[in-house]
Amino acid sequence: MTDELYNIRMHASHSGRHISGAERIAAPDQINRIAGEFLARAFDKKLTPDKITITVEGLGSIKPRTLPALDVVSVNIPRIPEGHAAAIQVLQRAGVSEQAAQAAVCLLCRGAAPSGGNMRGAMIMDAQSGDRLEPDQERGIRVSRFDWSEDALARVKLSLESAGLAHHRTLEALALATKVAHAPGMVAELCWSDDADYTAGYAASAGLGYVRFPYLKQQGNPKGGRVFFVNREIVNMDTLITYLETDPVLIAEIGKCRSGIQPDELFGSML
Ligand code: AMP
Repeated sequence: MTDELYNIRMHASHSGRHISGAERIAAPDQINRIAGEFLARAFDKKLTPDKITITVEGLGSIKPRTLPALDVVSVNIPRIPEGHAAAIQVLQRAGVSEQAAQAAVCLLCRGAAPSGGNMRGAMIMDAQSGDRLEPDQERGIRVSRFDWSEDALARVKLSLESAGLAHHRTLEALALATKVAHAPGMVAELCWSDDADYTAGYAASAGLGYVRFPYLKQQGNPKGGRVFFVNREIVNMDTLITYLETDPVLIAEIGKCRSGIQPDELFGSML
């Protein structure tokens, strides 16, 4: 048995349209099981895929960087405008200007790709001016090569479940947000899903953790996306994009997880 690790990625589409995707980092003896789980997941959608691609790529001699997961706080805000306002406040606390945070919310609401639809990846935004810096505004930047270690995965599942956050989207978004928060030059992230049935989203940063809001869009709305806010004065875009797209990261420690936080407790709880 080799101790080499592999990145396993799945992409399912129908008539050229993306319908589901997933990825893991694992040892060779896990690949069969993970590929089976990915196929089951690809077929577990309202729309049956007509193409499924599973890519297995060795990481070679590159050792993943290990990171501790962000702490999770889920805030009880049942209305979208108040959810947006609170997410903007969290972003401001993390160092994003109000102007940039509001611009990001507007872009996610209307569809951030120049064609008006969702992007496949994330925007990169100057945290002060709100200027968009990603090289391709239709596609954006896709974060890849991140996962939980086996041990942390078992523990974080229990922790999220006991906080009533068992949805696999939270588990995956928390891993992605942890990798993103530790990127060089990163200030904060804002995200809500493009899944029409999933209304939750989050604002996150290395200092404030993963702050989840149950309603950042209407049920049935298929618009969503991600914004990575960076400090333009220090960021090197090539280093940032290489880190996000290709540097492997394993999340080996879990953080604290609290749900049912009232809005007025939010900032007190972050001190
Ligand atoms: P999801 O949370 O999977 O519904 O994704 C919400 C939005 O985030 C998508 O519409 C994309 O714009 C963006 N996104 C999804 N996956 C990634 C990723 N791996 N890296 C960067 N952005 C992503």
